[in-house]
Amino acid sequence: LRNCDVAEMLDRTARILAMRGENRYRVRAYKRAARAVASESRDIEMLLKQNRLHTLDGVGAGLSDKIREIIKTGKLSLVERLESGKLPEAGNRVILLASALTLCTELLPELEGLPGISRVTPTGEVRRCRETVERVEVVLAASDLALARESLTQSPSLHNVSFEGNLCRAVHNFGLPLALFLVSEEDFVLTVWLTTGTEEHVREVAAIIKEQTDTDLLHQNGSRRRFSKEADIYMLAGLPYIEPELREARGEVAAAAAGKLPLLVQASDYQGDLHVHTDWSDGTAGMEKMAAAADELGYRYLAVTDHSRSLKIAGGLSLDRLAEQVSMIGRLQHKFRNLTILSGIEADILDDGSMDAPDDVLAGLDVVIASIHSGFRQSGEKLTSRICRAMHNPNVSIVAHATGRLLGKRNAYDVDMDEVIRCAAATGTALEINSSPDRLDINDKIAARAREAGVLVSVNTDAHSTLELANVALGISVARRAGLTRDDVLNTRSKGELLSYLKKKKTGA
Ligand SMILES: [Zn+2]
Ligand SMILES: [Zn+2]
Repeated sequence: LRNCDVAEMLDRTARILAMRGENRYRVRAYKRAARAVASESRDIEMLLKQNRLHTLDGVGAGLSDKIREIIKTGKLSLVERLESGKLPEAGNRVILLASALTLCTELLPELEGLPGISRVTPTGEVRRCRETVERVEVVLAASDLALARESLTQSPSLHNVSFEGNLCRAVHNFGLPLALFLVSEEDFVLTVWLTTGTEEHVREVAAIIKEQTDTDLLHQNGSRRRFSKEADIYMLAGLPYIEPELREARGEVAAAAAGKLPLLVQASDYQGDLHVHTDWSDGTAGMEKMAAAADELGYRYLAVTDHSRSLKIAGGLSLDRLAEQVSMIGRLQHKFRNLTILSGIEADILDDGSMDAPDDVLAGLDVVIASIHSGFRQSGEKLTSRICRAMHNPNVSIVAHATGRLLGKRNAYDVDMDEVIRCAAATGTALEINSSPDRLDINDKIAARAREAGVLVSVNTDAHSTLELANVALGISVARRAGLTRDDVLNTRSKGELLSYLKKKKTGA
C-alpha cells in the first residue's frame, strides 16, 4: 500500500465516524493521522517495518495499531464493524454535501450489485449539489421489482426499511437517511428527472409540456411516456437541456426559453489552485509534496499561500521565513516542468483593514489572499469596511471565505456582501469560493451576484494536506449552481492569462 492509499482509508474512516455522529475528538484524530500519512515523505510500509509509525505527527499507539492493520490486511475492521453494527443515533445533524457524496461512493455500487436492480443514480438535492442535504436520494431501476424490494429489505447496510408506493425509506449504516425510488427500467429516466429538480422546477417544465403537447407528465394514467435521456424531456418543452445544479426554480426555465442559459464551468476547465497551505504554516505537507500532488492532478499552477505572521495559532510566517519560502519556491520550480509554483500568502486583514504584511513585501508575491480571521463578532459595518479597505490595497488579489460561515457550526458574519461585491468590481479583486466541505464560502447565491457585477470568482481549496486538494469538486459545484461559466472563474485561465490578471491590479496597467 502506498501512503496515499493508507491516508485515504484513514480519512474515509474519519468521515464515516463523523457521519455517524461519533465523538469529534476521535474523528479529528483519524483526520490528523490521514493528513500526516498523506504528507509523510518516508514510505509508510518502511516505517512499519522499522517500528517507527509513532514518529508520524499526531499518531499515537492506538492509531499506529490501526495503520498497521490497514497495511497488513488492506482494510480496517473498525469500519466493517461500524458498517454492520447497530443503527447510529440520527440526531438533528447537518448533512454536508461532502458527506452525502462520500456515502454515495459507498452506497451506489452496493445498491447496483443487489439482485433485481440494474441501474442506480443519485437524484434530488445530492444531484443538484446543494451545500447541505436532508437525505440522500437515489433512483433504482429494477429488472425484477419484487426481487429488488426483497434485496433492499435484506441488505445489511440498510436499517428501518419501509416502502410507500415506489419510495423506499431507510437509514444507512453511516447514519444518513435515504430515499430510494424503486422503478421499472422504462420509468427510470422520467423518475430521475421528476426527483432531481425542485418541485417548482418540475412543475414549471411539466406545465410547458402540457400546454405544448397535451402530455401530462405529472399525472399519467395508462400508458406512461418513456424517455431514454432527460434532454428529451426538455426537448418536449422546446427547451435546451438544463443542468441538475440549476434546477432550483431560480429563473433557469425562463433563461433556457430565452436561449440564455450559461454554459457552466466544468472540472476539466480547472487549471490550478490559488490557496493552499504547507507545513511552513499549519498545513501538513511540505511544499514539494503539495506541488507534486498538484502536478499529478494535471494543474498548470499552484499558489503556496501560508498564513501571515499575526496568525500565530496557525504558525503564521515571519517576514524572514516568508522570504526564505519564496527563494525555496524558486529552487523547487526546477523539479516541475508543467506546473508553475506561485509564491503567495494568506494575509490577515487586521482590525483597521490594513494587511498583515508591508506593501513592498506583498508586491513581491504572485498571489495575495486577504482573509478575516479575527473579530467575527464585530458589527457588519466594521467587517465590511475592513474587507473593502483590504481590497483597495493594489497587492490584494483575492478575498478568501468572505462570509466566514462554518456549515452547521457558525453563521456567516454580518458582512454586507453587496457592498463587498461592489468594491470587488471597482478594485478588480476576485472573490473566493472556498471549497472546504464546511465552508463553501461564498455560497452559490452570492457567487451569482458576483457574476452579475462582473466580479471574477476564484475557486480554491484552502487545502491543508494533499488529500484536501480533491475538495475542489465541491467548490466547482457551488460555481455551477451559481451559473458561473468558464470565463467567470479565475482558475480556468492559462498561466499567462493568470499572471497578467494578477499583475493588472498591482500595476494598474
Ligand atoms: Zn483562512
Ligand atoms: Zn487558508
